[in-house]
Amino acid sequence: MKPAPFDMMRPASLKEAVRLLADHGASDARVIAGGQSLVPLMNFRLATPSVLIDLNRVAGLSGVAIEGENLRIRAMTRQQELLTNSLVAAHAPLLAAAAAHVGHIQTRARGTVGGSLAQADPSAELPLAMVALGATLTVSSVRGSREIAAECFFRDALVTDIESDEILTDIRVPIARPAARYAFREFARRHGDFAIVAVAMLFDPPDLRVAIGGLEATPRICQKVMDALRANGFAPGGVPSAVELELADAIPNSDLQASGEYRRHLATMLATDCLNEVLSS
Ligand code: FAD
Repeated sequence: MKPAPFDMMRPASLKEAVRLLADHGASDARVIAGGQSLVPLMNFRLATPSVLIDLNRVAGLSGVAIEGENLRIRAMTRQQELLTNSLVAAHAPLLAAAAAHVGHIQTRARGTVGGSLAQADPSAELPLAMVALGATLTVSSVRGSREIAAECFFRDALVTDIESDEILTDIRVPIARPAARYAFREFARRHGDFAIVAVAMLFDPPDLRVAIGGLEATPRICQKVMDALRANGFAPGGVPSAVELELADAIPNSDLQASGEYRRHLATMLATDCLNEVLSS
């Protein structure tokens, strides 16, 4: 199929882009980044914006830099950059590990970090990694900018905290200390498929952050696991009971890919494996 008719606008600055988004209003306009999710949706007429605001020519919206104690990743940074950028490798290796599971090099070469977060697919790896890393996202509009914690940004499947006139511009990831350990595991049908279940974690003593993706509508920050293991001094012997406690009240998704009970089983196996790795190395 082909998309419904639309006008394409190509702003050169963020100021122009947010102005256009404000002028064309919530119902008609959508921003397009890498197009790797939006274009298929438009081709199936599941999305029919009459105005597309192309972010690809907006100056200053891509790149990775150190900013104080954070790694600042601009929204239009291509996903492939997370695998090749030396600052990401040195200061947020969990992001590189997660990005390696996102689609294929062809899609990563066009798909953007901001687009993956804004798309908010429950099985996407980058939203999961950002929640695990405690990232902060910045959105801008003609009304100004605001910051949103990653774990508050994802509201439901394919639903985020972005207002219809806002553009995601930056993601700030706390720089991990050299001694920090991380783990990322994914179970997918084929390499490059969306995760059925994935687990991401960072152990930067005394901080432990654990998140599970693909299990529910949004990435699950595993507060019970983190509290239980912190209380027992991060002894590996406490992992099975902590994971069981965490997943006891989870309501896993059931769909064509997997039943809820199978997702719970996968989450238990992957989380236990990751925790044993980071706590015992
Ligand atoms: P677009 O498709 O351009 O936009 C997606 C949505 O986000 C749109 O609604 C758009 O309006 C909005 N948006 C984009 N940028 C912004 C912004 N800066 N501010 C506000 N709103 C914005 N993803 C995975 O996570 N894991 C996978 O395994 C995976 N496999 C894939 C395999 C294939 C074959 C393909 C085609 C895609 C796959 N994807 C996968 C999806 C891919 O990662 C997309 O790139 C991503 O989901 C969207 O990023 P994008 O830059 O292409 O955004």
